[in-house]
Amino acid sequence: MPVPGYPRLKSVASKRAESFGNGIPHEGMYTREELKELVAYCAERGIEVIPEIDMPGHNQALAAAYPEFFCFPDHNTKVSTTGGVGLYLVCPQKPEVWKFYAAVFDVLKDIFPSKIVHLGGDEAPLEKTWQKCPLSVKYRQKKGMKDVHEELKEFEGKMASMLAARGRRPQLWYEKPWAEAGIYRKGDTVFTWRMGLTPSTITETKKQGLPLIIAAGEHCYLDYPQIPGQDNRGWMPTTTLERSYKLDPAYGRPEKATDHIIGVQATMWAEHLPTLNHLLYRTYPRAMAIAEAGWSPMDVRSWDNFRRKVADHRAFVLKRFNYDLERTKENEPPFK
Ligand SMILES: [Zn+2]
Repeated sequence: MPVPGYPRLKSVASKRAESFGNGIPHEGMYTREELKELVAYCAERGIEVIPEIDMPGHNQALAAAYPEFFCFPDHNTKVSTTGGVGLYLVCPQKPEVWKFYAAVFDVLKDIFPSKIVHLGGDEAPLEKTWQKCPLSVKYRQKKGMKDVHEELKEFEGKMASMLAARGRRPQLWYEKPWAEAGIYRKGDTVFTWRMGLTPSTITETKKQGLPLIIAAGEHCYLDYPQIPGQDNRGWMPTTTLERSYKLDPAYGRPEKATDHIIGVQATMWAEHLPTLNHLLYRTYPRAMAIAEAGWSPMDVRSWDNFRRKVADHRAFVLKRFNYDLERTKENEPPFK
């Protein structure tokens, strides 16, 4: 997304040398007009587009463009060509970082009517960054902060205030250590996503008064292969259609323990997929399973009934998205 005053987002951050070792350079950036067109297209179909600006982590591309925003500027930083957790966290003690995000939020306000902005907040290794940053160390001493989580709490609070000044509020990926450090404010919507942690997260978020969206890794990650043998980048678990369908957003708990759960999310991280065709191919039919989990009480759910419905939709989906099964070099997705 272009941000006035920050041309290196386009000239540097929007380009990478290759993707997962394929040797093919890749680049791309929306224009403001394209984003507005997308928002309007979705709105006509009853879809609200919520942008995500992940911070303080997942910022290697920003570090390549503007290394001075980071604790330990490295002018040799390159845009990542793979996925995963990086050590590029914006530095909360640099005024230019705040100036940058103010400009980003102004652009968001202009393009996205949604009152929500997802601020990410996942996979941010503070101990290897802010913990050691000379500016942060000095600041924490001056303010009498006992640890780096207090600095993070202030960071998230300031970001939320900047959004509030623009009539927006944040959503965040739930991280247990952050919750334990009291970083989320009552009323913040969070997402459960980490494998195995959804049951405990449902309990903790209920106690803390945090609205919760279920994006459990075991069921909801649609970039994972859905048939054994499909490319899994060496680590992704196979998530079959049946496994996606088996999502019970309340995890068998009574309504009084789960009335803070406000929805489900099917998550698609497209950078792991080489083409648009692959993206559609992995999204469907599993997106239908997650959707049904979102709208149907468990006592009317039936795997056999769902399979029958999905088979009926098969021709429509294949035609609609123009699946090119030859080009994906993967088997036809399991529509039955
Ligand atoms: Zn720093």
